[in-house]
Amino acid sequence: MGVAVGTGSLLLSVALAAVWRPGPLKRLFAPPPVDGLNARAGLDGRLLGHFPYGELPASKRVAIAAGFSLHRDAAEAFLELQRDAATSGHELIVLSAYRSHKLQNELFFDVKSDRNQSARERAMVSAPPGFSEHSTGFAIDLGDGLAPATNLSPEFEQTPAFAWLKANAARYHFTLSFPRGNSQGVSYEPWHWRFEGSAEALQIFEPAQRLAR
Ligand SMILES: [Zn+2]
Repeated sequence: MGVAVGTGSLLLSVALAAVWRPGPLKRLFAPPPVDGLNARAGLDGRLLGHFPYGELPASKRVAIAAGFSLHRDAAEAFLELQRDAATSGHELIVLSAYRSHKLQNELFFDVKSDRNQSARERAMVSAPPGFSEHSTGFAIDLGDGLAPATNLSPEFEQTPAFAWLKANAARYHFTLSFPRGNSQGVSYEPWHWRFEGSAEALQIFEPAQRLAR
């Protein structure tokens, strides 16, 4: 009997160890991950809809325009995309590309106070620091140089440049991160595209892709 109970509890421990993943639960009970933002990450690591992302090391950063850089793999693909768009008569302007966690922190908290938004409202339209695709160097915000009034606005989707992107971006491995009604619950951002054309990029965005399926 004693032996049977002993074997049973051993098997139970093994089974528990197999299903017990402390990471997600630890996150749930951990203090809020962003200073000044009273929100906790969920079981899947997301904070107010946004997945956590690391920072692109300087050694992999390549300039794509004055003041803007991307991961070298995305940079090459983007410059080709931009050249081909120009050949078709579209002027794709870079509005934002790689952003450090520090810059994301400034953007998140400065814009929030400028617009008198709560952190939760702000998170609908901008990622908290440490949770932005931009810090990976694989994400880029684009505008139509011939329709600058639509920059960073949902009306960008009505521009010829957006129509071109929608029809062609996939050929360069760029995809819209936050389409209308996305499963992450982030507001629609027709200007924000991410590169998924390398093993590294695919691995980084796998959780976001899985959620979108
Ligand atoms: Zn963006």
